[in-house]
Amino acid sequence: MTNSEPKIGRENFLSETLSRESIFDISEKRLSEWFVQANGKAFWARQTLRWLFEKRVLDTKQYTDIPPIFREKLSQEFSFELPKIDSLLASSDGSEKILLKSIDEKYFECVLMPSPDRVTICVSSQVGCRMACTFCQTGRLGLSRNLTKGEILAQLLWCYKQLEKRGDDRRITNVVFMGMGEPLDNLDNVIEATRVMLAPHYFGMSKHRVTVSTCGLVPEIRRMAKEFPLRLAISLHSADPTRRTQLMPVNRQHSLEELKKALLDYPAGRDGITFEYIMLDGVNDTVEYAKKLVKFLHGLKAKVNLIPMNAHPGMEWKPSQEKNMREFQKYLSDRSIPAPIRYSRGYDISGACGQLAAKRENELHLPPKRIAKTPPKATRPATQQPTQQETPGQQSTDTTFCGGAWKVWAEFLKRYGRDSAIKMADGQTIHTNQVMRHVESWDHQWVLTPAGEVLERQPNGTDVSLFAIAKK
Ligand code: SAH
Repeated sequence: MTNSEPKIGRENFLSETLSRESIFDISEKRLSEWFVQANGKAFWARQTLRWLFEKRVLDTKQYTDIPPIFREKLSQEFSFELPKIDSLLASSDGSEKILLKSIDEKYFECVLMPSPDRVTICVSSQVGCRMACTFCQTGRLGLSRNLTKGEILAQLLWCYKQLEKRGDDRRITNVVFMGMGEPLDNLDNVIEATRVMLAPHYFGMSKHRVTVSTCGLVPEIRRMAKEFPLRLAISLHSADPTRRTQLMPVNRQHSLEELKKALLDYPAGRDGITFEYIMLDGVNDTVEYAKKLVKFLHGLKAKVNLIPMNAHPGMEWKPSQEKNMREFQKYLSDRSIPAPIRYSRGYDISGACGQLAAKRENELHLPPKRIAKTPPKATRPATQQPTQQETPGQQSTDTTFCGGAWKVWAEFLKRYGRDSAIKMADGQTIHTNQVMRHVESWDHQWVLTPAGEVLERQPNGTDVSLFAIAKK
């Protein structure tokens, strides 16, 4: 086969797509140079990028302020392909998690959290993370790679799409880098993406409304202070050095004292610095730890978000009890430190940090299975032939729906709504938003039957009933 022959097949398609530079990654300067070299005008670069980031139009044929020949050239020279949506998960609180798949098939996620007075989105900065915090699902994956500037911006574009679908014509007002990854471990791309968010002619956001959350990479905090001081959130989780090291290995590289010094030097201005503090039962939630925290915060303009821990399978910590959280909170507020308890939005869709993508990764490591016909109730062998109806991903409500737990859960919510009563296998009736707390593992294959029963495929090949819709 010669090079001039048409390329067929997925590998070729991929290599061709990957070999072209993504238009979402290119800088305005580089694009203007390209236009000039092609005998065009430098200012067409900004016009092109405005189509992408201001008007959010990806089809170059619609770029009416660029001559047709250059519209064609642009689409030939650059890839206009965005990461694809792998799945969408709607929470009962109105937030929505978007799991994206990059061109090289890496998973990362963002969460859209509209509320009456603002539209906040939580974005990822890396695929995986190398910080290995013990309570964090992403930490378990290790680092796969940094997200590019374009992949960070793609998360805004998809969130806009989802907003439009809801008939919500508002702008995204707030961005928090609290998805997968450690943004300060990918600071160049985070800064470049944020420049596009803040540019009045692109996304036009306010710099007070972009927050970068870090586990405490001190040199990068200092670099931000000098070059690009955005709002800062610090995932502190303990002000006791031994405990913090136990929870967050990064504390070995950058001590609490070093961190404090960098924060005292940070130009936080009127926004101050936000501290994230996950409340872990008996680990960091006693008054003794509150005292250490107050001491650490002395001299800083601080607000502390107390976060009830999101549990996931295999994690050694337990969430704090309500009473202890309240006591901890009172200790801080009595000393004039605002400390709201923040139930993370999207609790029932794994709102916190990388949990969905981590699950998707786990799911991928399971061997593909045919899901068998499911007779009513209890443990049953999964050896019967599948029925005609059992096509993975099928949409109709009177069919059996099979797939990864998350996809099946999304389908269940679609069929029965987010405000439904659910009967657990042990007879207990709960609400949809409590399911997270009752399901031990979301890494399995599930089956949703036409009767509204959800079964879990066990490693030994049997299907076990998990729960069912209480009333159909
Ligand atoms: N690496 C950055 C940003 C990603 S984590 C950082 O450490 O700040 C975003 C937030 O989710 C962090 O505050 C993190 O501590 C929190 N988080 C991670 N796992 C969690 C869990 N199981 N329950 C509650 N919050 C969690």
